[in-house]
Amino acid sequence: MQLIEQLYINGQWQTPAKNNSLTLINPATEQVFARVSLAAEGDVEQAILAARQALPSWSATSASERARLMNAVADEMQLRFDDLVAAHVTAMGCPISIAGAYQVDCPIEAMRYYADLAASMDEVEEKGRVLITKEPVGVCAFINPWNYPLVQLIGKLAPALAAGCTVVAKPAEQTPTADLIMAEILHKVGVPPGVFNLVFGIGREIGPFMASHPEVDLISFTGSTRAGIEVAKAAAGTVKRVCQELGGKSAYIITEDADIDAAVRYGVEDVMANSGQTCNALTRMLVPASQLQAVIDQAVLVAAEQVVGDPLVDNSSMGPMTSRAQQQKVLKYIEQGIAAGAQLIVGGTEMPEGLESGYYVKPTIFAGVTGDMSIAREEIFGPVLCIISYDTIEQAIEIANDSIYGLSSAVFAKDKTSALAIARQIKAGQCYLQGSYFSIDAPFGGYKQSGNGREWGSEAMAEYIEIKAIICT
Ligand code: NAD
Repeated sequence: MQLIEQLYINGQWQTPAKNNSLTLINPATEQVFARVSLAAEGDVEQAILAARQALPSWSATSASERARLMNAVADEMQLRFDDLVAAHVTAMGCPISIAGAYQVDCPIEAMRYYADLAASMDEVEEKGRVLITKEPVGVCAFINPWNYPLVQLIGKLAPALAAGCTVVAKPAEQTPTADLIMAEILHKVGVPPGVFNLVFGIGREIGPFMASHPEVDLISFTGSTRAGIEVAKAAAGTVKRVCQELGGKSAYIITEDADIDAAVRYGVEDVMANSGQTCNALTRMLVPASQLQAVIDQAVLVAAEQVVGDPLVDNSSMGPMTSRAQQQKVLKYIEQGIAAGAQLIVGGTEMPEGLESGYYVKPTIFAGVTGDMSIAREEIFGPVLCIISYDTIEQAIEIANDSIYGLSSAVFAKDKTSALAIARQIKAGQCYLQGSYFSIDAPFGGYKQSGNGREWGSEAMAEYIEIKAIICT
């Protein structure tokens, strides 16, 4: 069993003040794999004050020095690639065959990408007698979820370091190990003490303390809309910047003249990726009623190609849910879908064939889903796809926008031009056309209750920057 007994504060490994710990379960084996010591408010206070103390010298470091350190971090991440992969396989059940590509490649690329953007902090815009300059926002607190632990951490940390901010990070309870490895890496390459601090803890206990602390200038939260609202309320009293990256129920419109087989394959594979635990998963597939049977036939075929099983076995494409609680939540939604009269065409509530333990859920697809069903409206966060039929494209757009969420979306039409015309009418922060994939250049974030922040792309730098106007005579 791995013992994670220390927090990383002010460049040192430190035992938490109180003797409070959490055991972590490997979701594939249901066995304990680690025990992690938890921070209390006093430990978090120390981490925040260390970040405050480190801020003046770190923000005064030259952009080239920050970029050098960040590139050294990326080099070291590459050397520890296998450790980072193993952290995801054990803690969240991500299959070993895909964990590198899904969970580790992008964070390494991101460290280098934002290292290149550090120099943009020195740019001064001149508008007549007005000079517009950039300064780091200051001390940043990060609270992250368990579904892409390293991606979420680096999506915040890399632009924050490039901008000259200092950081206190708290990973999700279930997934501390990737963050732990990152603290070791940052320490090894010589990132100065206090620039990055890592605390482990229970969100509802130390999260509000982080969010409300007067020495924290920005809180960036990724997780459920429920907790995101709590964070914003806690932060309100200190008027700090609050960046929220929250839940989703993203719509995917397939048009009548699209290549149905290619379009449905893309949609089914998208929802089943990471066992459905992806905030921007395209969980509502909107299809023309005239093509419904062709869509169902192809969806059944593609779902059957998924191999649900032990994340350590090479050909597994889907692992378990990250926790028993998540498995139970997903199964409850499947029961609700059946009870509401949706047509279960694939999957269901039984364990996948050949598996007796582990928090698995079968890839599940419903057709005949209507807008009033909970499976159509609420975020399930599991491998459950809802197929909803429409009669006209106007109706499809209306259904797509009939959601409290607006994180992502997609369109598959006859060609890019017709897809683009539909994309412009969807209220969501991203829209993927004709089967496209994630790009680090694409700013990522929500409309409506999916949040207000933007991560990735050069736009992510803006979260960590204060704009100062200097007005000359
Ligand atoms: P969660 O909200 O339960 O937990 C996320 C984090 O918040 C954890 O670190 C947790 O400890 C902490 N937390 C919980 N309650 C808190 C509180 N009251 N105050 C402060 N912190 C608190 O969410 P989860 O179940 O871990 O993650 C799944 C959710 O995350 C889904 O809704 C998913 O859509 C969302 N998500 C969004 C994005 C995005 O970029 N928009 C990315 C990944 C996940």
